[in-house]
Amino acid sequence: MATVLITGAAGFIGSHLADLFLSNDYTVVGMDNFITGSRRNIAHLSSESRFRFVEHDVTQYLDIEGKIDYILHFASPASPIDYLEFPIQTMKVGALGTHKVLGLARAKGARVLLASTSETYGDPLIHPQTEDYWGNVNPIGPRGVYDEAKRFAEALTMAYQRYHGVETRIVRIFNTYGPRMRARDGRVVPNFISQVLAGQAMTVYGDGSQTRSFCYVSDLVDGIFRLLLSDEQEPVNLGNPREMTIATFAKKIANVAGVPEKTQYEALPVDDPKVRQPDITKARRVLDWEPVVKLEDGLRETIEYFKTR
Ligand code: NAD
Ligand code: UDP
Repeated sequence: MATVLITGAAGFIGSHLADLFLSNDYTVVGMDNFITGSRRNIAHLSSESRFRFVEHDVTQYLDIEGKIDYILHFASPASPIDYLEFPIQTMKVGALGTHKVLGLARAKGARVLLASTSETYGDPLIHPQTEDYWGNVNPIGPRGVYDEAKRFAEALTMAYQRYHGVETRIVRIFNTYGPRMRARDGRVVPNFISQVLAGQAMTVYGDGSQTRSFCYVSDLVDGIFRLLLSDEQEPVNLGNPREMTIATFAKKIANVAGVPEKTQYEALPVDDPKVRQPDITKARRVLDWEPVVKLEDGLRETIEYFKTR
């Protein structure tokens, strides 16, 4: 039975990965320091004999007893307001945390999968984004702490692969949503849904013409599972190519929630990417993967979850 260490296991994506690996008979060690995650996300695993939780900051020396076959490095503040609140911790977890993870992988002979991001493409000048695009990132803007930490993490991961022969995988995740996102994490999905459920206006930033493409979490973790077990050593985009403006997205949320649309326009954050859409040709080819959950269905599930919060 293989053992997988998941850093950031108490977070949104990390907790769904823990569920997926447990349901595929893996033993899971979850690690988190709760900086943006929540005990509630893993509470349902407390009586699961194949799940063990270690409360630890991944930027500090890592010492895990026993064998580890795979490491999924998902620890990092991930929403713009989180990484603006914790800029140094964001850089540390991307840089020092990734270094500790790669060192542990080398010691244990484990394969590492790094959670990277569409933010490595910055405010992209190529659209949709393909993996061979090097990006347009402002290193000293407010988002630079996240974007550059992830770019450094990718470079370090490739260095460990080339220099030390560590088996590595890199996923570039595009906007993903679903149950267990924090209601106040500031990202557009939790914001709009919380606002709609509270009867408030949805806060559209800028003129709402910027685009995003939203992937439901079950699709994403299925792609990550396939990537981990594949032979692909270079970065792979995972996300849903269905792109829309944020103004249209607000309409969609109101529609699925069954309420009249109310919006309020606010200032666009600095360096907010104007467009974003994954080119998933590579994922289709090497992983035989593509998203299957319709936006309307994913939003319905997520709205139901937020109603219980
Ligand atoms: P999240 O904030 O819900 O989860 C991140 C988890 O990492 C949290 O539980 C947090 O407490 C933990 N963490 C942060 N720093 C840590 C440290 N030093 N030591 C231990 N634990 C630490 O965010 P998420 O949306 O689940 O994102 C998970 C990963 O996926 C992140 O690496 C993020 O960059 C990446 N990602 C997510 C998206 C998305 O749309 N959700 C998009 C691109 C990339
Ligand atoms: N956004 C918005 N209103 C909000 C939150 C976000 O209009 O209340 C916009 C934001 O400016 C961006 C898009 O929605 O253009 C997605 O933002 P999010 O924070 O979810 O993630 P990003 O894709 O920017 O990393």
